[in-house]
Amino acid sequence: MGHRTGMGGFMNAIADLPVDPKVKEYTARRWELLIDGDWVKAKSEQTFQTHNPATGELLAECAQADEVDIDRAVRAARRAFETGPWPAMTATERGRLIWKLGDLVLEHLEEFAELETLDNGKPISVTRAVDVPLTAELFQYMAGWANKLEGNTIPLSVPYTPGAMYHAYTLREPLGVVGQIIPWNFPLLMAAWKLGPALAGGNTVVFKPAEHTPLTALRLGELIMEAGFPKGVVNVVPGPGPIAGEALAAHPDVDKIAFTGSTAVGKRIIGAATGNLKKVTLELGGKSPNVVFADADMDQAIPGAASAIFFNHGQVCSAGSRLYVEDGAFDEVTEGVAEQAKQMKVGPGMDPATEMGPLVAEEQLDRVWDYVESGFAEGARALSGGRKMDGPGYFIEPTVLVDTNPNMKVVREEIFGPVVTAHPFSRENDVLPAANDTIYGLGSGVWTKDLSRAHRMAERLHAGTVWVNCYNVFDAALPFGGYKQSGWGREMGHEVLNLYTQIKSVCMRL
Ligand code: NAP
Ligand code: MG
Repeated sequence: MGHRTGMGGFMNAIADLPVDPKVKEYTARRWELLIDGDWVKAKSEQTFQTHNPATGELLAECAQADEVDIDRAVRAARRAFETGPWPAMTATERGRLIWKLGDLVLEHLEEFAELETLDNGKPISVTRAVDVPLTAELFQYMAGWANKLEGNTIPLSVPYTPGAMYHAYTLREPLGVVGQIIPWNFPLLMAAWKLGPALAGGNTVVFKPAEHTPLTALRLGELIMEAGFPKGVVNVVPGPGPIAGEALAAHPDVDKIAFTGSTAVGKRIIGAATGNLKKVTLELGGKSPNVVFADADMDQAIPGAASAIFFNHGQVCSAGSRLYVEDGAFDEVTEGVAEQAKQMKVGPGMDPATEMGPLVAEEQLDRVWDYVESGFAEGARALSGGRKMDGPGYFIEPTVLVDTNPNMKVVREEIFGPVVTAHPFSRENDVLPAANDTIYGLGSGVWTKDLSRAHRMAERLHAGTVWVNCYNVFDAALPFGGYKQSGWGREMGHEVLNLYTQIKSVCMRL
């Protein structure tokens, strides 16, 4: 089993790698749509193919939903919400189902890890340790909330009905039918981030995975049925974003649309949602600053800054893609990060030694490469990387760009690949405006031993998350989401449950 050797090809083909026999079966199968508890063909009988980005080879074929199928799925979700066992279940019963789903995910950890690695490209060491375990954690964290979603009793003091007594309280109720659209960068984990709170809140769901990576969501659909969720509570309908996704966002009988993906598509979602003014939550792009002060523990900060951008090949909405380093430490940190980049084992995700796999698809490789070339054209210099690798597969070297300026496209726009721009600064008061000079506000990082400075920075960075002396730490209990154009609302923690429930006020005269 081989790794990339410079610009050369692989020494061995992915086909030789050992794969769980069940995973072989999942990839040989033709996947249908999960609608109303049944696996059904698309009405149009259209299908699409998903590929292995390490080789470009066909991985599996899936039914392709269009607006007709979305409508069927929404009707099924509506029926499941209004009638049938789901609304009659106690909150504890719902919580038990969600918990069981988490258990089932863990029981099938290895097959989910392999399926995700084959479909998305990310290293198997990461899918085993991060994507699949966090998915189970998320479901089990949210399972615990199902029977803890409460209203309040509220004392009234109505001045214009002197002497009258009231009993007033709030009910926390589900929103109804929720449409959810997710991207390809963490296909299984994003499914959990979305489904967990929706189900804990008592909603029903029409779920659209990304076409690049539909397989783990479809397999999860099977486990959802195996866990015992009533039919129609979760419907899984892969299909093209501009058709299936847009139809879901626009559907008049969908009560909420939750979207993760690009800021450009997020804006389209808002437009599509206006017809029935459905609720909208968005988790969008980022261009997150990662600030290293000269007093930082460099044994942590240098690998931390490298992992902030190179984890998941930079295909992370919160990736630390703008690295700011205090004068005096600039060369040490940038050369250190570049050295880490050069040492990274780039190869097929199924190889356990791989640290960075291929980008998800050829179009993403082209997109990232265009950015690197624009950086060079505008005068940036690569301390490491800066080269595409020969095919097959969609590989690019982890890249550190210096000699940048704040107006370059590579500094302003989300690249969504393993490319970091590095910028020196001289004082805390200089780096803050530079760090905040972006339309985005998702993640941010600070590396320092000075406690007061860490807290000052945490207050003054305009971002939904500030990581101090760490980066990309995610936990089911910790809210995540964007300031500015990085989104609306939060995922995870108990915050997200407010966005999948609504408050009804009940006022009774005694
Ligand atoms: P995208 O176009 O925003 O896709 C995200 C999801 O939205 C996919 O399921 C996609 O479906 C769907 N979609 C696309 N157009 C839609 C529309 N008009 N209405 C409803 N749904 C629609 O992202 P992408 O094309 O995969 O990646 C492009 C860029 O988006 C990336 O390079 C990156 O900058 C950003 N991105 C950000 C995140 C994040 O987590 N914040 C994640 C992924 C990508 P299909 O893909 O099946 O067509
Ligand atoms: Mg796409």
